[in-house]
Amino acid sequence: MAISGEDIERRMSSFAALCRRQGLKATHQRMEIHRELAATLEHPDAETIYRRVRRRIPAISLDTVYRTLRLLEEKRMITRVGGVGERTRFDSNTERHPHFVCTECGTVSDVEGIEMGALADFPDALSSVGEADSVYLEWRGVCVRCRQDSGVAGA
Ligand SMILES: [Zn+2]
Ligand SMILES: [Zn+2]
Repeated sequence: MAISGEDIERRMSSFAALCRRQGLKATHQRMEIHRELAATLEHPDAETIYRRVRRRIPAISLDTVYRTLRLLEEKRMITRVGGVGERTRFDSNTERHPHFVCTECGTVSDVEGIEMGALADFPDALSSVGEADSVYLEWRGVCVRCRQDSGVAGA
């Protein structure tokens, strides 16, 4: 699964437009940090993004990457993936979509073709617990690749 150059450019220009709307400067560092997210379906964590951005901006600090990711998340320009207390991973796809997390290799994959409308409407049953502003759905299990690998190993 790869993202075409065209898709990356499309994501980058919509990011730049979003920055303008949010009153955020589309600085070189912000653009490059977002580019790493826009260019992958991997849902990388902050350290991975840092290592990749550093190849192009050697002077960037891990702290800057953390702060930028937090800011973009606050502005809802990226989303956070993973449970509380787990390594935080990020997603530049802000369309509501569910994930599949592999409990063997940790890969986080987007699951296509699932309509989350009913969940996102925040049913009345929620109101006794709290007021929700987002919904997050993920399945956990062993991914196709790990299944194949363990099949080979077990033979
Ligand atoms: Zn796996
Ligand atoms: Zn995703």
